[in-house]
Amino acid sequence: MSAQPRIAVIGAGLGGAAAASLLAKEGFNVRVYDQSPVFSRLGAGIHVGPNVMKILRRIGVEDALNEQGSHPEYWHSRHWQTGDVLAQIPLGDYAVKEYGASYLTVHRGDFHALLIDALPDGILTFDKHLTQVEDLGHVVRMHFADGTVEEADLVIGADGVNSRIREELLGVEPPKYAGYLAHRAVFPTPDVKAGMLPFDPCVKWWSDDRHMMTYFVTSKQDELYYVTGVPVEQWNLEDRWLPSSKEEMREAFDGWHPTVQALIDSTVEVTKWSLLERDPLPLWSRGRLVLLGDACHPMKPHMAQGAAMAIEDAAMLTRCFKEVGASNYQLAFDLYEANRAERASKVQRISHDNTWLRTNEDPSWCFGYDVFNVPLVDPLPTAQKT
Ligand SMILES: Cc1cc2nc3c(=O)[nH]c(=O)nc-3n(C[C@H](O)[C@H](O)[C@H](O)COP(=O)(O)OP(=O)(O)OC[C@H]3O[C@@H](n4cnc5c(N)ncnc54)[C@H](O)[C@@H]3O)c2cc1C
Repeated sequence: MSAQPRIAVIGAGLGGAAAASLLAKEGFNVRVYDQSPVFSRLGAGIHVGPNVMKILRRIGVEDALNEQGSHPEYWHSRHWQTGDVLAQIPLGDYAVKEYGASYLTVHRGDFHALLIDALPDGILTFDKHLTQVEDLGHVVRMHFADGTVEEADLVIGADGVNSRIREELLGVEPPKYAGYLAHRAVFPTPDVKAGMLPFDPCVKWWSDDRHMMTYFVTSKQDELYYVTGVPVEQWNLEDRWLPSSKEEMREAFDGWHPTVQALIDSTVEVTKWSLLERDPLPLWSRGRLVLLGDACHPMKPHMAQGAAMAIEDAAMLTRCFKEVGASNYQLAFDLYEANRAERASKVQRISHDNTWLRTNEDPSWCFGYDVFNVPLVDPLPTAQKT
């Protein structure tokens, strides 16, 4: 391996794009490949917490995202029928002061576009669907669907829930359908907003078996987003998402608060997505291959921290390469896993249970985390790893 190992990132989603940016900023020799023919802007919203904003600061897009996003003063949780406040979690200026950066909600496509634009010229190639990866011991060979073959010294699998790299490490095993669907809709903020009381900029409506989360996705607050969690027993795993309808939404949220009904009435287009999970993986890397994000720990989105974990992984992996050198990759990978597995599994567990911020609780362990300054723990000796 040369003094400056060639690092390939498979997948330019939120995790892969962040990894490539951070590695390039630190002077590593990195290339990133994505199967999409061109950049695609997923019509959805996303929460970006202070734990992520601190990483975006290093990438250089914190200010731009702050300008694009909506900055709610609070996360509200409300009772599905009465609208009573179940929790009021301070964000806004409080988040900046207590957690070191802002908490915002934004259009996911706008966020992703900022990360893609931040990549140095020439390091991202679209239309590269990885079909096979071979770790030959001294080098990794990557085969793409267009018939091309490329080599790298190290390969980061940031290729999402159906990761090809994960399959190489652990065999073919489909993710588990979690028994829930998420309806997603982005639409212009309705004129009837004033009639929707209570109306909070960031609110989760809860019943015992389902929920609806609503927030603005622009700083002007002219676009709204909702995402649900609704139990549905069967889902064909071949379909990642399907169209839904206002009628389906009305049925799923029959009897819910008038604000929820008004949101459903204002919906322009709504889709439904399967929620997928995996149990924590027994290993995050082997040889020259390593995983991050949904490839490694896909989770229900109920903590709004899935992408956050992918981006934190990217930052920690970069930190570990810097700490011990990318040529010393086995140690870097062990250090990375030792410093990420516990936190990612905790977030996976809470997301599964769907309890996050339902009642007043202190979120500082999550939002206050600073991946660049948290003290590193030593890796387990290989013999003690299961
Ligand atoms: C309904 C819903 C709401 C959510 N809300 C939030 C939220 O508010 N906050 C939050 O932090 N998270 C949220 N998440 C979770 C978040 O979307 C994921 O955790 C996050 O996108 C994972 O990022 P990733 O980079 O690991 O994977 P992905 O975003 O899935 O990216 C994987 C990339 O790899 C590429 N790829 C895949 N296979 C190949 C291949 N063989 N060859 C080449 N390229 C390949 C894909 O094209 C894609 O670009 C939500 C998820 C859902 C379903």
